[in-house]
Amino acid sequence: MADRKPLISGNWKMNLNHFEATATLDKLRYLLSKDDYEVVDVSVHPPFTDIRTVQTFLESEKVPIAVGAQNCHWEANGAYTGEIAPGMLFKLNVSYVIVGHSERRELFGEDDIVVAQKVKAVFENGMTPILCCGGTLEEREGEATRGKVTGQIHAGIEALTPEQVASMVLAYEPIWAIGTGRTASAEDAQQVCSWIRAKVKDMKGADAAKAVRIQYGGSVKAGNAAELLSQPDIDGALVGGAALDPEEFARIVQFRLS
Ligand code: PEP
Repeated sequence: MADRKPLISGNWKMNLNHFEATATLDKLRYLLSKDDYEVVDVSVHPPFTDIRTVQTFLESEKVPIAVGAQNCHWEANGAYTGEIAPGMLFKLNVSYVIVGHSERRELFGEDDIVVAQKVKAVFENGMTPILCCGGTLEEREGEATRGKVTGQIHAGIEALTPEQVASMVLAYEPIWAIGTGRTASAEDAQQVCSWIRAKVKDMKGADAAKAVRIQYGGSVKAGNAAELLSQPDIDGALVGGAALDPEEFARIVQFRLS
C-alpha cells in the first residue's frame, strides 16, 4: 500500500458556537496524544465565526490539529455580501478547505463549475482543498454512481497540475449516508474510492493517483472507522455528526487501536 498518512477531518457544519468550540477542543486535546498525531493528520472545520477562536486555542495550547473551513468564495474580494474570501482564511492559518460538500451542492446550488473555481482559489491562496463527490440513492440503485462521482472529480481537478492533485484531498461521500446513520459497506466505499483513484490516474498520471488522499464520509463512527480505513484506497474520513462529540471523534482518530 502507498505511504499515505490518513487524514481525519471533523466537519462541524452549522454547530458549536465559539464557546462550545473551545470546550470541545479542550476535551479533545486530552484524549489525543503525540502518538496519535504521528500516524494520523487531524483537522477540524468549525463555522466561520469560530475560526479565530479555534486557531488561537490550538496555537496557544500547541495542539497539532489543523484548522479547516467548510467553504469559501473563489474571488479575492469584492461585492459578495455574506461570503468569505480564501485569503481571509489563509490569514487565520486555515490549512484545509472543504469544497463541493453535497450540502453545498444540493442546498445552495453549487455546480461543478463553481466547485472547480473554488478548488483553484483554495490552491492559489496556499491552502489544501478537500474536494467532495458523491451520488444519491437513486444513482446508486441505477448503477450511476461511477459516472456521477468520476464526473465531479473530472470537473474539480481538470485545471490542476498533477502536483496539485497529488497534494490535495478527495472525499467520497454517498449522499444517502450523510447524517442518516447509514454507512456504505467497506467494500462499497473501497470500490468507489478505487474508481476515483483510477480516474485521477487517467487524468493526471500514476504519481498523482498514488499520492492523493481519498477520504470516505457518511456516518463514520468509532464502531465502523477501523474497517473503512483499512481499505487500500481509503486514506481518511470526513466526519460530520460524530465529530461533535470529542470522545467519539478521538476514538475515530485512534481507529488503529480498535
Ligand atoms: C459530512 O458532513 O461530511 C458527513 C459525512 O456527515 P455525517 O458523518 O454526519 O454523515
